[in-house]
Amino acid sequence: MKRRAKIVATLGPKSNQTAVLRRLLKVGVDVCRLNLSHGDHDWHRDAIRKVRKLAGEQNRQTAVLIDLMGPRYRLGTLEPRRLRKGETVTLGDKRERVDLPVKKAILTQLHPRDRVLLDNGLVELRVVRRRGGRVTAKVVSGGPVASHKGINLPDSALPFTISRKDHADIELAVAESADYIAASYVGQARDIHSLRRAVRKAGAEIPIVAKLERGQAIEHVDEIVVAADAVMVARGDLGVEVPLHRVPVLQKLIIDSGRRHGKPVIVATQMLESMMERPRPTRAESSDVANAVFDGADALMLSGETAAGDYPVEAVRTMARIVEEAESYARQRPHQDTTLATLAQSDLPHRIGFRDGPASTPETKGHEIADVVAASAVFAARNMPVRQIVAFSQGGFTARLIARYRPGAPIAVLTTAPAVARRMQLVWGVRPLVLADDVRTHEDVVHLIDRELLSARLARVGDAILILMGHPIAERPLTNLMRIHRVRK
Ligand code: ATP
Ligand code: MG
Ligand code: MG
Repeated sequence: MKRRAKIVATLGPKSNQTAVLRRLLKVGVDVCRLNLSHGDHDWHRDAIRKVRKLAGEQNRQTAVLIDLMGPRYRLGTLEPRRLRKGETVTLGDKRERVDLPVKKAILTQLHPRDRVLLDNGLVELRVVRRRGGRVTAKVVSGGPVASHKGINLPDSALPFTISRKDHADIELAVAESADYIAASYVGQARDIHSLRRAVRKAGAEIPIVAKLERGQAIEHVDEIVVAADAVMVARGDLGVEVPLHRVPVLQKLIIDSGRRHGKPVIVATQMLESMMERPRPTRAESSDVANAVFDGADALMLSGETAAGDYPVEAVRTMARIVEEAESYARQRPHQDTTLATLAQSDLPHRIGFRDGPASTPETKGHEIADVVAASAVFAARNMPVRQIVAFSQGGFTARLIARYRPGAPIAVLTTAPAVARRMQLVWGVRPLVLADDVRTHEDVVHLIDRELLSARLARVGDAILILMGHPIAERPLTNLMRIHRVRK
């Protein structure tokens, strides 16, 4: 059986060559991530176009995720030096004479006792006072500082902003038809809404992945999950903003929230970090990948391993192998029944602004019905031999509802929109298929599904399959029907 959890790979200087990229797709990358904190537009445009071309050649629906830089704060220019524990330092505008030059926007947010973390939290300061445009702070843990090192302010409610660069990057995403946009440093649902407005203004509906990496965001997990289309457990900055010992638990809480709300969850950062330099992972990394699968993640992400490491293809292959092994173990454990029971009773459809592009209507009743049909399909697939659960879907909503129950049976989503098919690559266990023909009637759908499944060798004549769709088709309703069908020639 095929791998169910998806793989996201970051592209960088070690993976944007045609030959490497071709192999990355071949060994199982479902989503290519481009980190707009690095590289220029020409670089990224070229990479996106290569992904599209190579995916086309391999007949794959590979998705492209554009990760925005967001409000990243950094030190200004300074002479490299070492800060000593107990020492008092000044932070201020670069025009003044201070130890650490920073932007004014940062200074006005700082209050006595706030922490200021530099260089991934390696150096920690605590604010003593702010007077005029200048902040005095005490060094709590010392270390080297240098120009442009990153700053984290875990105790301050820094506003989420969309910079000029972010706007330009959004335009690139729209121009190149990116499949997802990832929002860095969001703090609350409002931030997702404002980014969504900016994307819309740039001329497209692109689903948004909220990166959970700030302490503030952790206090608003559910509302962010509801507002976004997918979320990422961005463990890099998260491990700086909250104590590291909380990260494993937060990973589970975020994944659970995503499951409850039917939104895909990506687990990111350092999954196979040591593979940047070595062809084999550490035992701890191997366990980390497997445990993310056991936690219920939809997708696992590689960052430096594929962007800047020496073994990009091996990293993907290794990840795929660990995932497959973990899944084959998980299938033998009868925990899925409890999953179905608890999720089916959860409050899913009520408060949720499900978003699937123009085709979906935010009608609560329709969502409830779709969820009941999805749960019924998962129940049916457990009680009779079913080759495939097939969702005929305009926006991918039904596929997400089925996936959140983590059925043992394979899930295929058939859609007439290639963009929807690509977006489904982030969703656990969903295999997207694009229908070339237009469909008008219920029987059209069934006939085309038979044909597609047979030609993709996903089913044989006589196999039982479950077809989920909205009826009547012409009115494009949400899913309200499950048909138990035997595949015909
Ligand atoms: P973030 O906090 O956004 O994840 P990062 O600096 O950790 O930022 P990653 O996306 O995790 O970046 O990628 C790991 C490394 O790969 C980067 O630090 C950078 O050195 C390199 N890299 C990634 N993308 C590119 C690119 N487009 N061009 C050059 N180098 C890149
Ligand atoms: Mg990173
Ligand atoms: Mg980051």
